[in-house]
Formats: sequence, C-alpha cells, structure tokens
Amino acid sequence: MKYSDNYTAMDRELLMQKVQMQMSERRFKHVLGVEETAIALAEKYGASPEKASIAALTHDYAKERSDEEFQLVIRRDGFDLALLKWNNAIWHGIVGADFVQRELGIDDEEILNAIALHTTGAAEMSLLAKIIYVADFIEPGRDFPGVNEAREIALVNLDDAVAYETKHTLTYLIEQGKPIYPKTIETYNKWVAKHI
Ligand code: GDP
Ligand code: FE
Ligand code: FE
Ligand code: FE
Repeated sequence: MKYSDNYTAMDRELLMQKVQMQMSERRFKHVLGVEETAIALAEKYGASPEKASIAALTHDYAKERSDEEFQLVIRRDGFDLALLKWNNAIWHGIVGADFVQRELGIDDEEILNAIALHTTGAAEMSLLAKIIYVADFIEPGRDFPGVNEAREIALVNLDDAVAYETKHTLTYLIEQGKPIYPKTIETYNKWVAKHI
C-alpha cells in the first residue's frame, strides 16, 4: 500500500523496516498478520485502510523494550504511577504508543489511541481501536481454541468480536490467576456484561 495521507512521513516499506528492527522474526510475522487482518476489517467496516495499516504495523513496536525503559518513561512522561505495578503485557500498548509517537513521529491521535488500547480494550473505543484489538486476536498466525469462532464473528459483527475476545481473554487470565488490569474490567463491563 502506498500511504497517501500524512499520518506518517514514512512510506510503508520504511515503517515496516523500522518496526522489524525492534523485534524477533516471529513477532514481526505476527505484526504483518495483524496488518493484513486490520486492512481487511477496515475495508469491511468502513475505516481507513491506511490508518489500519499504520496502527497494526506499530501496535507491538515497544513490546521488546526492557522493563527499566518502560519504568523510566512512565516516571518521566507523567503516566499514572499506578502503572509501575504492572508489567510488559500492559505497558507495551499504553506506554508503547508514546514510543511510537516519539520515535516514529506518528502524531495521529486515533492511531496512537488504537495502539494504547490494543491489549486491554476500553469502554469507549473508536472503530480503528476495535479493528486493531480484534485483528491482534484473530490474525492468521494465531492458533488457540476459539480463534476460528472469533474469526467468524469478526466477519459478521465487529462489536460482537470485541465482546467475544474480551470474555475469552478475561476467562484465560482468571484461569491463570493473573491480575486483571482495571481497564480490562471496564472493557468487560461495557462490551460483555450488557446489562450495565
Ligand atoms: P500480543 O502483544 O500480540 O501478544 O497481544 P496483547 O497485546 O493483546 O496481549 C499481551 C498480553 O497481555 C497477553 O498475554 C494477554 O493475555 C495479556 N493481558 C491482557 N489483558 C490483561 C490484563 O488485564 N492483565 C494481565 N495481567 N494481562 C493481560
Ligand atoms: Fe500487544
Ligand atoms: Fe490482543
Ligand atoms: Fe500483537
């Protein structure tokens, strides 16, 4: 895809190279899978395929940074210090968006917000944020019980796909005895527990 709007000064090839340099081959393959899926969802649901491409390519940009670097940025850039109690799983999206903005010069708020919310979701999500959240879960390289059902739902109704993924992730985290980040619960209450 040739980027025509000005969400990034880079062309897709250069952006891909910058992302590739930050991660393992395996993770880069995942990123390309998310991009392919996000573009398809953008075309289906009427979002910008170009924004979907940029957000997908950069969504895990910071995932391989050290804990020390995340902790430094959280303190330096005025993030909620409660974040310090969490770990890479939560940081690489919420704080990762900050790395994307500073290091890649991407300033579009909707793209940055989609990156920030891609792991936890949120009660309020833009169309692009939903697309990245869902594409991350169903890209072709994902293989877990339920992924095909998630793929089928995503072809029919994007909000239902958000709900399915949220319930699946929360169930998994609870089974594993992992702590639930408050935003993940907000996502659950909004998209899964529809009585609220
Ligand atoms: P990935 O970066 O492509 O592997 O996928 P994600 O960014 O969606 O998720 C990263 C990790 O965060 C996964 O292992 C999720 O299970 C985990 N995760 C998502 N929400 C939460 C949460 O509320 N609490 C914890 N502890 N982990 C979470
Ligand atoms: Fe991620
Ligand atoms: Fe995800
Ligand atoms: Fe991902």
